[in-house]
Amino acid sequence: IIETKDIQKTYRMGSEEVRALKSVSIVINKGEYVAFMGPSGSGKSTLMNIIGCLDTPTAGTYILNEKDVSDMSENELAEIRNKEIGFVFQTFNLLPRASCLENVALPLIYAGFGKTEREEKAFKALDSVGLGDRVHHKPNELSGGQRQRVAIARALVNDPSIILADEPTGNLDTKTSYDIMELFHELHQKGNTIIMVTHEDDIAHYAHRVVRLRDGLVETDTLNPNPTRGKAVMATE
Ligand code: ATP
Ligand code: MG
Repeated sequence: IIETKDIQKTYRMGSEEVRALKSVSIVINKGEYVAFMGPSGSGKSTLMNIIGCLDTPTAGTYILNEKDVSDMSENELAEIRNKEIGFVFQTFNLLPRASCLENVALPLIYAGFGKTEREEKAFKALDSVGLGDRVHHKPNELSGGQRQRVAIARALVNDPSIILADEPTGNLDTKTSYDIMELFHELHQKGNTIIMVTHEDDIAHYAHRVVRLRDGLVETDTLNPNPTRGKAVMATE
């Protein structure tokens, strides 16, 4: 369970201050599928980074799975990230010189797995996103959608319970975006908690709950009574 209580985030740059989050209190239960929306600069990525333990709030409390992580050290945060969280970034953040398999296996080094086990798990993750036949390709030998799927495989390789995706379809064409949403739908069906940032209404419509931020505050928080469902589910009905 994710619970933020009146969290604030102020960035200081010299004498300038930016209040990126003014006060955000939000509870996201295990297994929820949530979309964060809102104008550019409203604080979506800031909130995602805090939820993902990449950053800590300036004030307020963040409880993740019953643990107060607001004041944890970088080492403690890194351990939580390795165990619980998979991050998908808009810009993929893949290592250009490494193969798909090596890219996906990377988080497992920090988690302390041996080489054989790393490769097995990385292969499984790549296979699960439909890239079992691309494991030795380098990122620049793949299409944009395939690269995004490598990034998703990397986020999944530790079997995290929480998947955070900041504009996972931002750089992709419509067809590929829907393929990625299909994948998220399956992950949600499997019980993962998914939080994604998106600017696009039809992408947000896959989520079961939409939280809109504005100027560092939650503007609306609504359940989606009829989320878009994956093709696979519709096809088998
Ligand atoms: P976008 O839709 O454009 O990605 P966002 O909702 O994700 O926007 P944030 O990245 O959370 O917005 O930024 C919120 C505010 O905090 C912005 O005004 C931004 O300029 C500022 N900000 C974000 N990161 C930093 C940083 N590292 N240092 C200083 N200011 C920052
Ligand atoms: Mg952002």
